[in-house]
Amino acid sequence: MSEPANPVTGPSNFIRDIMQEDLKTGKFGGRVHTRFPPEPNGYLHIGHAKSICLNFGLAAEFGGKTNLRFDDTNPEKEEQEYVDSIMDTVRWLGFDWEDRVFYASDYFDQLYEWAVQLIQAGKAYVCDLTAEQVRQYRGTLTEPGKESPYRNRTVEENLALFERMRAGDFPDGARTLRSKIDMASANLNLRDPVMYRILHASHHRTGDKWCIYPMYDFTHGQSDSIERITHSICTLEFEDHRPLYDWYCDNLGIYHPQQIEFDRLNLTYTLLSKRKLLKLVQDGYVRGWDDPRMPTLSGIRRRGYTPEAIRNFCANIGVSKTTGILELAMLEHYVREDLNKRTPRVMAVLRPLRVVIDNYPEGQEEEMEAVNNPEDASAGTRKVPFSRVLYIEQDDYREDPPKQYYRLSPGREVRLRYGYFITATSIVKNGKGEVVEVHCTYDPATRGGNAPDGRKVKSTIHWVSAAHALDAEVRLYENLFSKENPNEEAEGLDFTANLNPNSLETLTQCKVEPFLAGAAPLSRYQFERLGYFCVDADSEPGRLVFNRTVALRDTWAKIEKRL
Ligand code: ATP
Ligand code: MG
Repeated sequence: MSEPANPVTGPSNFIRDIMQEDLKTGKFGGRVHTRFPPEPNGYLHIGHAKSICLNFGLAAEFGGKTNLRFDDTNPEKEEQEYVDSIMDTVRWLGFDWEDRVFYASDYFDQLYEWAVQLIQAGKAYVCDLTAEQVRQYRGTLTEPGKESPYRNRTVEENLALFERMRAGDFPDGARTLRSKIDMASANLNLRDPVMYRILHASHHRTGDKWCIYPMYDFTHGQSDSIERITHSICTLEFEDHRPLYDWYCDNLGIYHPQQIEFDRLNLTYTLLSKRKLLKLVQDGYVRGWDDPRMPTLSGIRRRGYTPEAIRNFCANIGVSKTTGILELAMLEHYVREDLNKRTPRVMAVLRPLRVVIDNYPEGQEEEMEAVNNPEDASAGTRKVPFSRVLYIEQDDYREDPPKQYYRLSPGREVRLRYGYFITATSIVKNGKGEVVEVHCTYDPATRGGNAPDGRKVKSTIHWVSAAHALDAEVRLYENLFSKENPNEEAEGLDFTANLNPNSLETLTQCKVEPFLAGAAPLSRYQFERLGYFCVDADSEPGRLVFNRTVALRDTWAKIEKRL
């Protein structure tokens, strides 16, 4: 199956249909202008990639523009570190906001004026209820709320109090500014929502200029409006906020973008909550935000996933109005498919077992010709050194082979990839009874892997020449969580109880072919029969470190399970 290289030509989706219709009717003057609005309170994850690809992809498709906007209204949780990593990640994914990077905090002055405007129109008031009281007064889905006793303050009183809130006359949480909408509304978001809260906290951009901060709902739509966004795409949990989004635009009488909601991405065995990911980092369950097991885009990148694979995945999952959970295996499928096309094949042995070819002349070496990528003829060939002592995988030898095991075993002949046919003749064991060396003979007539007499072998195994191999560390990964839904918490335990204790296995005795000398960080390879690997950032001259990006489908493991 071949996937479109262009990320914006996926299956049809209803947001694209809406944009097409709006272009036809001229609703926004023939413009498409979207924005990606992360809060800089953590690293981006694979769920954000869906939003990024939608916003940037759809706009590009219609010749439109996309802004990057930091939704930074929460000074306590936001940091420059996150801003930097978000920019880096969006660029890595292959998208360009040109000169359009904005911050909601740039609009604090304008938002303040708009708040004053609503007070003057009798549509906002300063409320002295505590956060807890506001909650109690709000009512429930089945009961209407109660009006705040401060709801009918005069405009003058409200203006004066709001001014004093801004001036720092009151402690945190002492008062709020609320919109006067409808305490009996069926939509809880319309029951006099808070617009501003008092918070004496330094902001990563505005410093100590403000001690009142606007709420998300009082910020987002107006930021969209200021930037003349046409289609404000967000996830489904904001559907109930749309009436409020519309209320602010309408009551302020400002340009009114269209909010459109889509389903957020969920993946099996994966958590996509920044709060929970932060806990994994802070409590040391992983090595950092870019730990290759993390679903963050920086983790996925370090793991070796390509931006192309992620874009293809996002283009093909579509968008809908109901939230579901996708198989993590589906994402891995797109990763394999992309890496299959682009990665050179090499041979590496993860758990080495020494093989001595007794009839191969001591001191002799030769160079075998190996194909770099059977999917890409232009990748050419390379020379792989062969000699009398080799390493093969421990797994590729069984002293007592089960049925259907066709690899090396006593008396059995197998093919060495790009090498010769060899037959196992005897073994050496250590004191614990483990096989540490296999002695073989080779057939010189089978050079390159074929017998002139046409005899067949049932198995081809990979190898490296002991004298030429480079040492390497290889990190193998399993899913970070062992529960399909890591959010399901057992009684009295939190989500960390669902972590997979085997998510990382570090192998330090690996041997790789000399072709990999000096492999650059992040360069990717297929280790024949083992999967796709990428050079880790921990690699340094003389110390190669690889991450397994994704395994190849292991058919043997399936057979063995059935036996
Ligand atoms: P979290 O709940 O993990 O903190 P968030 O939604 O608050 O995530 P933001 O930084 O506000 O994170 O997200 C920026 C944009 O990315 C928003 O438009 C949001 O809807 C979108 N987004 C976040 N998570 C997902 C997801 N899992 N799938 C699709 N889009 C997402
Ligand atoms: Mg958010």
